Amino acid sequence: MSIPTSTDVAVVGAGFAGLSAARALTRLGHQVMVLEGRDRVGGRSSTSTIAGVPVDLGGTFVGPTQDAVLALADELGCRTVATYSRGKNLIRWHGRVRSYRSTIPRLSMMELFDVSRIQWRFERLSRQIRVDEPWNSPEAHKLDERSLEEWLRSADANASTRNLMAIMSRVTWGAEPDEVSMLHAARYVKAAGGLDRMLDVRGGAQQDRFPGGTQQIALRMADELGERVVLNAPVERIERLADGTVAVSCPVGVVNARAVIVAIPPEHRAGIEFTPPLPTPYTELTTHWPQGNLSKAYAAYDRPFWRSDGCSGEALSDEGPVFITFDVSPDNDGAGGPGILLGFTDARTFDRLPPDQRREQALSGFATLFGEPALQPIDYIDHCWGTEKFAPGGPTAAVPPGSWTQYGRWLRTPVDTIHWAGTETADTWTGFLDGAVRSGQRAAAEVAELLTG
Ligand SMILES: Cc1cc2nc3c(=O)[nH]c(=O)nc-3n(C[C@H](O)[C@H](O)[C@H](O)COP(=O)(O)OP(=O)(O)OC[C@H]3O[C@@H](n4cnc5c(N)ncnc54)[C@H](O)[C@@H]3O)c2cc1C
Repeated sequence: MSIPTSTDVAVVGAGFAGLSAARALTRLGHQVMVLEGRDRVGGRSSTSTIAGVPVDLGGTFVGPTQDAVLALADELGCRTVATYSRGKNLIRWHGRVRSYRSTIPRLSMMELFDVSRIQWRFERLSRQIRVDEPWNSPEAHKLDERSLEEWLRSADANASTRNLMAIMSRVTWGAEPDEVSMLHAARYVKAAGGLDRMLDVRGGAQQDRFPGGTQQIALRMADELGERVVLNAPVERIERLADGTVAVSCPVGVVNARAVIVAIPPEHRAGIEFTPPLPTPYTELTTHWPQGNLSKAYAAYDRPFWRSDGCSGEALSDEGPVFITFDVSPDNDGAGGPGILLGFTDARTFDRLPPDQRREQALSGFATLFGEPALQPIDYIDHCWGTEKFAPGGPTAAVPPGSWTQYGRWLRTPVDTIHWAGTETADTWTGFLDGAVRSGQRAAAEVAELLTG
């Protein structure tokens, strides 16, 4: 297969960011070509099935204020349903399983007081951060020098609060609190509208999901774009030519474009050879903006048996590998089958296990929370993003101490006609599907101005 040799804009990556950028430019009348390294579109959004029901291996939930992705989904006819949250939530803490309601689990009075105190301090600090230029925030260097873990210790957070923040860190960045810069953590949470907005089900980022899966949004964008999307086309080289255009090379050909939008995570930019080389901070940025690693396991049962015990299916655990669960069964209104549990699993221990042991450990994690019936699923599936061969990692970048103040200003500053997109470059809901869509639309607007100006 060969590809056309010229276009107005080449887009690298067919995730939500790249496809949104291509869609916006096409609508403005520009010629576009999207080059995707995988054999599918969607990137970190990938929908599979379990017991015949679509389930998301990557990006799943959406919530209020995620207006960009919600508007896109609505336009493409992809409907949402509320995440099931009726009944009691469970927490397995220090070997005991207890129930609670709302987002904050039932801990002792002292523990709860400490969680509220730290949340209040975190939010106060987060409000001071400049999301657009975090390196210019008050005390930016001091905050960027330390990890989230160091900040928690300096604030005298007790062990339970630190454990809860570790769970938050694991599911948000796929990394431990000692791996993430405090400046990054505070900026990220502000970009999501606060801790409650980011962590809650009702009124928060887990409020709704797509019964048909999130990848259908990418598939529908790709359908609209038709032959403009080329799969199995990993971009290996981007050359800036003397006439101001770029030559974008992949194994199926070379396309000459007036501009290129690189819509992939910062770490994966290192997989592309830029000629002439990018200025040094851009190259160093790619090694200082690593992707985290998060994995997921789903088990399907004849029916959502936990609902008969008054459980919502939502649970937290301080003992792995399953550390957060949700009920994503297709029947939200009754106890009809199948019942489907989603478990986020700790990539550090989970990913290196052979498939049968991963299954055994995930099911035993579900059983500790919801009882013996969890050991008898009718179907099971898991996915380890950190072990993907091409473009591994996710949910998003786990930015370590020092990176924002040293390299942040080059994250999305164009180099001649090379522009940058991807959820990591967004100022609102960065790290999420919504941030990806916003980043694609922002890069498309930059390039449209360049082409018409
Ligand atoms: C386990 C998990 C759970 C998540 N849960 C949620 C959630 O509930 N809600 C939410 O909003 N978000 C969630 N996310 C995050 C969300 O999926 C991402 O923010 C979003 O999909 C990122 O989109 P993107 O377009 O920026 O990047 P990507 O989706 O990573 O797209 C980049 C694309 O570029 C391709 N590519 C990379 N290098 C090259 C190259 N050299 N040449 C050509 N192509 C290349 C990749 O194959 C990929 O398709 C989750 C992610 C994971 C992994």
